[in-house]
Amino acid sequence: MFQAVFASLRLAFALVCVGLGLILGAQWLGFIPDSRLAEETARRKFCETVAIASIDDIRQHRWSKLNTTLEALVRQNDALLSGGLRTESGTLQAATRHHRLCWKRTATAAAPKDVNVAKSPPVDATAHDSVLFLSDAPETTEVVPSWVEPSEPVSRDATAELDGEIIRLDIPITVQDRTWGTLEFTFKTNATGLFGNLLDQGILRLLIFFAVIGMGSYSFLMMRILGVFSKTQVVPERVRQALDTLAEGLLVLDKDGKIILANDNFLSTNGFEPEELQKRLAADLPWVFNTDDKDADIELPWTEAISQRKSVVGEILRLTGRDGVHRVFSVNAGPIGEDETRKGALVTFQDVTHVEKHRLELENMLSMLRLSKDEIQKKNQELEILATRDALTGCLNRRAFFERMETMLVDYRSAGRPLSCFMVDIDHFKSVNDTYGHHTGDDVLRKVSKVLRDLHEENQVVCRYGGEEFCVMLPGHDLDEAMEQSERTRLAIMNIRLDDPESLRLTASLGVSELQFGATDVQSLINQADNCLYVAKRGGRNQSVPFDPDRVDVLGEEAPQPDDVADPDLVSLPFHAVTALVSALAYRDPSTAEHSRRVANLCVQAADGLVCQRDIYVLEIAALLHDIGKIGVPDDVLHKPGPLTDDEWKIMRRHNTIGLDMVAGTFHCPELERIIRAHHAISDRGEVAHHLKLDELPIEARILTIADTYDSIVSDHAYRRGRPHSFAAIELRRCAGKQFDAQLVKHFLTKIEADVKESSLGVPTSTGIAFAVPKQTALKIGQQIERIAEAMDAQNVTDLRDLARDLSVIADASYLTPIVDSAKQIEEAASRGETVEWITLLRQTQKLLDLCRATQNAHLIEIEQEETLFFN
Ligand code: GH3
Ligand code: MG
Ligand code: MG
Repeated sequence: MFQAVFASLRLAFALVCVGLGLILGAQWLGFIPDSRLAEETARRKFCETVAIASIDDIRQHRWSKLNTTLEALVRQNDALLSGGLRTESGTLQAATRHHRLCWKRTATAAAPKDVNVAKSPPVDATAHDSVLFLSDAPETTEVVPSWVEPSEPVSRDATAELDGEIIRLDIPITVQDRTWGTLEFTFKTNATGLFGNLLDQGILRLLIFFAVIGMGSYSFLMMRILGVFSKTQVVPERVRQALDTLAEGLLVLDKDGKIILANDNFLSTNGFEPEELQKRLAADLPWVFNTDDKDADIELPWTEAISQRKSVVGEILRLTGRDGVHRVFSVNAGPIGEDETRKGALVTFQDVTHVEKHRLELENMLSMLRLSKDEIQKKNQELEILATRDALTGCLNRRAFFERMETMLVDYRSAGRPLSCFMVDIDHFKSVNDTYGHHTGDDVLRKVSKVLRDLHEENQVVCRYGGEEFCVMLPGHDLDEAMEQSERTRLAIMNIRLDDPESLRLTASLGVSELQFGATDVQSLINQADNCLYVAKRGGRNQSVPFDPDRVDVLGEEAPQPDDVADPDLVSLPFHAVTALVSALAYRDPSTAEHSRRVANLCVQAADGLVCQRDIYVLEIAALLHDIGKIGVPDDVLHKPGPLTDDEWKIMRRHNTIGLDMVAGTFHCPELERIIRAHHAISDRGEVAHHLKLDELPIEARILTIADTYDSIVSDHAYRRGRPHSFAAIELRRCAGKQFDAQLVKHFLTKIEADVKESSLGVPTSTGIAFAVPKQTALKIGQQIERIAEAMDAQNVTDLRDLARDLSVIADASYLTPIVDSAKQIEEAASRGETVEWITLLRQTQKLLDLCRATQNAHLIEIEQEETLFFN
């Protein structure tokens, strides 16, 4: 403010100086009339008039009258001090008071300086039209007439009156061409002294007037003008230029938040003109807020900086530029000045639109990734359920059941804790199917399984063991408790009611056993319970029979022999070892592992009613391990996409021998080896033709061969799609009696057709990359991708890289090229350490998740279709 006032005064002073110069110049050039000259001229005229008027009195020597006239003139004219008439000889014929004194003073004072001295023609008493000249009065000797007071005392007032400058005028008077005398006058001027003389001059007054008034008015004007420009001129030009060089946008705001200055960067970035921002509230710029509530009180960063004198850093604001583009700025605002008074704020704007866009993209992709991950997780769970649960009843399937129970049984045995089990078999279930149809049979199975699951699933393990047989394991329960549970179950089954037919009543037979009776593995325990179940059936059904080593009927002839309780063959067939081998195969050749699992299921299904449960168990393991030798086949042969050469076939066939070696080395179970060897022998047509008779081979091996062939026909392969069930049935029947046991083919197809309607298994439902990918592999890949998504979400590059590498190996084994490529891209991108590009990684991960979803969907749709066909 002070600066503005000072600047205004300086400007006003300069303008006044210019004005004064112009006035003086104008005066020098004569454009301004001289008031002193005019005044002197008027006095001279006055004196001349008096002189002319006095001529008559002089001629007639009327001195007294003349004296009176002069006195009267002096009284009337303030400027006239005195007057007198002096003869040529110096005699003062007439004179007013003080004339001698005044005249004397003018003689010694600066009169010559103050009057323009010039000789003028005298006033001729004989000629009226005379010319009067102002002239210096010569020093004369005074002759005072008698009626004139010779030495009049000078009063104090008169002295004061006589202060200041006195000038005199004398008019020479001639009579008949002879100088008679002089009419004398003295005048006073108002200002006397050094400044008085100067002030007396009109031009000086004008100059002083102009200087004083001009200074005042110019100052006022300048202040007004500077006040107008102060909004922009408050910031000195050199500071303004310096601010313009900043790479960031900058606003200087006053204490009200109005814009004082916007630097070049701010203007050019947003396309504003400097004028449109001047005096405008910064808050009125077109900011964009992410709020639906327009009335929401949004505090802008500079408001806080100005009002609370606090620096605000890194606030994100969005502004719509003239081009309509929303730009994102990181805004810092700091108060101006160091004291506590509100002065304004300095606000910087760093354009982070690009960074923000990047961040938003990243955030969007991350949320998409999380959604995909959740979806995949859900589908993985579904797949897991499908892989471990029986589709019709929702109970655990046999394999999952054995996997779970193997370790549990070992734990309970070693801990000496009780573990019991009961088997449930629906009585006369076949007649339900026969009387009401398969559909009702399925309803019954679902109802019974629901009862079992409701009663036991929370704490126990429920498995669909066979067609209408269920097994319930009761960890921590002894025989008595198991019997109690078994009876509860039986009664609950009796209470089952169907909507249609309402009259249908169900009963079930149950056999109960417990670890204390010597069973060393799951299968032995189940066999004991199964023996009791036979006794229950024999005893009239609808009852529970507990295992009792002292009861002969429990160990009766039809029942397996007591030594089965700890069957040495079965003891050497731990299911977890089988599972481990199949997992190893799945790692090298997932489609073969999945094929083995399917064949095992078919075998269990087909063997039902043909062989006892114990043998079914061995057959199931034989089916699971029949192709285990493929682990030893080199990759280039095992995974060769095209047809194999003769040499390659020889190598491939070696897998039979390798497999048998592995089975013999891992399990000491001749029965199992026999089945697998015989199966390989049948598969090799030449051997069958020349050396073997089918009916001499174990029935399990014959079943296995049929199931193996059937599954090969109906399943998808990398080189061809699966054929329909009808096609497989025709093919099996065509070869029945030659390669396959005719009776067994018939039985097999009956069993299969009972469960699966025509073509349901053979419909090539897989799409895209899901083609030929086994369910287990899809699950494994899905779970791996789920982990990748988690690592991505946690932005853990190391885990991401390792998981991607593992995934590419798993996917490679199944020829899932898109997944392999995608995983490798992620691995590579994640290996960049610090310079990792998250957006790229996210995109690649998303792509991977999409691929994974496609695989899962294909499987889930396939299962759905199977179920739909099955249930209809
Ligand atoms: P028992 O009282 O002696 O147990 O006689 P059962 O008729 O119950 O026993 P059997 O073993 O003679 O018959 C079992 C039947 O169960 C034969 C088979 O067709 C049928 N079955 C097996 N699985 C399924 C299935 O998933 N759905 C239907 N509807 N029937 C099935
Ligand atoms: Mg039954
Ligand atoms: Mg049965």
